[in-house]
Amino acid sequence: MSTSSASNRRFEQAIVGFFIILPPIGGLVVLYQALHNLPKFGMTLLWLAYLVALVGAHIKWVRPKFRRYPWVATYKEFSERSKPLKARHPKLVRKALNHRILRSAYRFAFAAALVPFFWGMNSLHHAHFWWFFGMWLIAGFGITIGYHRVGTHPSFKTSPVMRAIFFGMGAVAIQGLPGEWMKKHSKHHAFGETTADVHSPYVFEESKRAIFMEQFNGFMHSFVMWAFREPSLRRPKGMTIEQWKEDLLSKSPDPATFKYRPEDRDHWEVRNAQGEIVVSTETLIKKRWARFVDVIVGIEQDSVVTLMSNPVLYFGILIASFAIPYYLGGISIWESLARATFVNWVTFCVNSVCHLWGETPFEVPDNSRNNAVIEILALGEGGHNTHHKSELWAQHGVFGWQFDPSAIVIKSLRAVGLARDLNLPTRQQIVMAWLKWRVREPDMQGIPLRPRDIVGKAVASVEAKKEEPVGV
Ligand SMILES: [Zn+2]
Ligand SMILES: [Zn+2]
Repeated sequence: MSTSSASNRRFEQAIVGFFIILPPIGGLVVLYQALHNLPKFGMTLLWLAYLVALVGAHIKWVRPKFRRYPWVATYKEFSERSKPLKARHPKLVRKALNHRILRSAYRFAFAAALVPFFWGMNSLHHAHFWWFFGMWLIAGFGITIGYHRVGTHPSFKTSPVMRAIFFGMGAVAIQGLPGEWMKKHSKHHAFGETTADVHSPYVFEESKRAIFMEQFNGFMHSFVMWAFREPSLRRPKGMTIEQWKEDLLSKSPDPATFKYRPEDRDHWEVRNAQGEIVVSTETLIKKRWARFVDVIVGIEQDSVVTLMSNPVLYFGILIASFAIPYYLGGISIWESLARATFVNWVTFCVNSVCHLWGETPFEVPDNSRNNAVIEILALGEGGHNTHHKSELWAQHGVFGWQFDPSAIVIKSLRAVGLARDLNLPTRQQIVMAWLKWRVREPDMQGIPLRPRDIVGKAVASVEAKKEEPVGV
């Protein structure tokens, strides 16, 4: 078995290495071509600067203001909730409605301000830009919705055909076979920010001498190097599911070398009021490892995942994702590689940046963060703190100030009957998390609770009721 897993590992390294090395070269070639037409290159940079300024202004000035309101009601919900208030507090309801309209106007104006960017890119690059943009969305949603939200985590239900389509879209991103991706990602959730994590940027052993280098290496590990280092979770050939499961169960992390962050201690050992250990780290590791093994055995037995993890089909789709833009749009292989670089770079950022920088509205036993920039680039996956709070939620941008295009797609699929049983947080969970965060987060403490407005009413009703049905 050891020889076959070693050769699997070498094969995997070769594949990963090949695709990691090529895209940056592709990027350089695209840059080289761009430099042949300096005015066009300069104009492209100007339009990109416009986009960055627009999004940057939103993140810097508007988003913090939106943090006053954890929940944005739909108009239907608003009219239902405000009905009983209308007679007694007409002014208040009008003010709240004006506020809701203002938010819609802002969304509309922001979308309108994006139009010149697309116009500019279209007039400079024509079909080349649209192929880049379209293929980015296909690969991106393939990963965020396919591999992640419906593949690894059962956050909503859809037909086998839809799942196969989403996994096929994910293949375009060049992030490996779906089964392998899902298994490794499950391990990240089971052992986040411990020595058994797949890609934690946390440095467990810091020597005084080389702290910067250790942190840099920790970051690089969580960014990309883990893909070379993390052993495969593929079922070895000739092993039955039962044998494989038994083999996996015997390989749980060694408690003697297992490390976690001091602040997550309550998650990794349970003590009573007297401070005596009631449940040991060893027991918890075994329990969580057994749960993780169940998850990956489930992935292994999933027929759609198995079908789409067939290397012939996977590489067929991958080759088609280069061949179709080449033949139909005249898009060079190098341009497609640049697109692949961009998608992968963004995914690498979710694993690394979103475990280092950003907001922590939810208390979780790891360092996951909601990062405003990655939220946009990774099509909603930057709401990573929310995702670690509950990996079952189909929406990662649950607060009124977040952006989650993947959730918009999932909800649109639900609207046309292609997705069902979405797992979503309740209004109570969101508002309660916001209230607690307000107390913990120094930046938020200046924000007054507004008991007289609709948010205040929501807060009051949340405190009065135990549970509310999903209100999204
Ligand atoms: Zn994470
Ligand atoms: Zn996840």
